[in-house]
Amino acid sequence: MNCPYLDCNYRKIQTDTIHCPDCSRYLKTCERCSSPNRAFAVYCCECGKLLPESDADWPAFKGGWQRLGLNRFVLNRRIPELGTGEMGGIQLSDPCKSLLICDRHLFAISQSGEIKVADISQNHIREVTSFHAGGNIYAMPVIERGSLYMAAEKELLAYSLGNLFSQKAPVIPRWEISSDGTPIRELLAFQNRLFFTLTYPDRHHEIHALDSIRSVQPKPPEKLCAGPRLSSIAGHYTEKVKKVYFLSEDQIGLRLHLTDYSKNSGAEAVSLMVKGAPSPFRERVPIAVIGARIFLVFRKEETLCRLDANTGEVDRQFCKNIREFAMAGINDPVATISEGLFFQRINKKVDIGNNQTIKGSPLILKDCAVVVGMRDGNVHLYDLHNPALPLIWSVSEHSDEEITVLAASQNIIAAGNDKGRVRVCRLV
Ligand SMILES: [Zn+2]
Ligand SMILES: [Zn+2]
Repeated sequence: MNCPYLDCNYRKIQTDTIHCPDCSRYLKTCERCSSPNRAFAVYCCECGKLLPESDADWPAFKGGWQRLGLNRFVLNRRIPELGTGEMGGIQLSDPCKSLLICDRHLFAISQSGEIKVADISQNHIREVTSFHAGGNIYAMPVIERGSLYMAAEKELLAYSLGNLFSQKAPVIPRWEISSDGTPIRELLAFQNRLFFTLTYPDRHHEIHALDSIRSVQPKPPEKLCAGPRLSSIAGHYTEKVKKVYFLSEDQIGLRLHLTDYSKNSGAEAVSLMVKGAPSPFRERVPIAVIGARIFLVFRKEETLCRLDANTGEVDRQFCKNIREFAMAGINDPVATISEGLFFQRINKKVDIGNNQTIKGSPLILKDCAVVVGMRDGNVHLYDLHNPALPLIWSVSEHSDEEITVLAASQNIIAAGNDKGRVRVCRLV
C-alpha cells in the first residue's frame, strides 16, 4: 500500500500501523478495506467508505456539540501513579483562545485569529502548518467532518483540513460568509448545519443557522430565535439520537428549544415552557446536555440544576455558588466555586490553596480526574474519587502567565495560556 500523502512515495505500509514508516505522518485506517488514509480524510481513498470519527477527537471543549468536559477515553491508572511526560509546545503570537484535537493533530487558535496545527501522534509534537483567519476570534472554532469552522469578526469561515497538507498552496477558506451582527459569540456544527449566536450593541441576541455547510456554498442564514436572554447552544449526538438545544427567556418565562434530526424526514423544531425554574438563568455559564437532560445555572444562589428535556421540568438541584462546571456523569458535576472545587460524587469541597484561582472551565478525564488551569500558570489534576492531593503540571516557568484553555485526547493534555504559550504532555 502506498503512503497517502502526496509528497511521499513510500510503498509497503503495514495496515496496522498508524504512521507512514518513511515520512512518519499519521495514517487513518479504513475499517472496510484497511487502506491507510491521510489525517482529516472523510472518505476512504480506496473504497469510498465514510471514515469514522475517532474517540480521541476533541472537536471543541466548550464550543462543540457535547459542551461537556467529557473525554471518552478511559485512563486505567489513578493520579498518584500518573506523571506528566512533556511532549513540547507551540508559541502563538497572542493569547491562546481555543484548542481543538482531530486525528491526533492539535489546533491552537489565538485571540487575533492565528491558527497553528501540530501532529501530536508521537513523543514530540511537530508543527505542521500555520495560517491566519484574518480577524479577532470571539467564538470557539469547531471541527466537523474534515472542516474547521471559524468566526472572525463579522465573518464565518470554513477551511478544508485536507488542504493543510498541500504545502505549495496557501491555506484559503473553502467558503466565507459575512454577517451583519457582531461579534459572533458562539458556533456549533451539527448535521451539515452551523448554528451561531450574534450579539448586537443593544445587547439583544439572535441564534441563526446556516444550512448545507459541507457544500461549496451554504444557503443564506436563517434566524431561529431572538431576544434579550439566550443560552448557549448544545447538542446530543449518538448513532440514533441527534438533537440540538438552547433556551430563551422573556417576560412570559423560560423556554426550551429543541431541534430533532433523528428522523429521516428532516429537522423537527419544537419549544416548551420550563417548569420549576428557581429564578432567571445565568447566561454566562454554558449549558450542558447528556441524553435528555440539560444542565444549567440559575441566578438564585448560582445553583446548578438539571432539566428534563421531555417534560420541561427542573427535576434536580445540585450545588450552589458555582462559577463553572463540567459533568463527570449524569448525576455527577464537578463545579468551580469561590473556595476551589466541589465534587458532587463525594459531596466534598476541595481547597485549592491560598492565593490560587482557577481560570476557565474544569475538564474531565473520564472516570479518572478533573483538570483545571490556574492563574499562576500551572495545571492541576485531581483524582475524581479522592481529590485531596493534585498532580501539578507546570506549563510555564513564569508565574504571571494564566492558563486560558485546556483540551484532552486519550492520555494527552494540552494547555494554552495568555502569553500564547501552548504545551502538551502525556500522562504516563
Ligand atoms: Zn509517507
Ligand atoms: Zn476503504
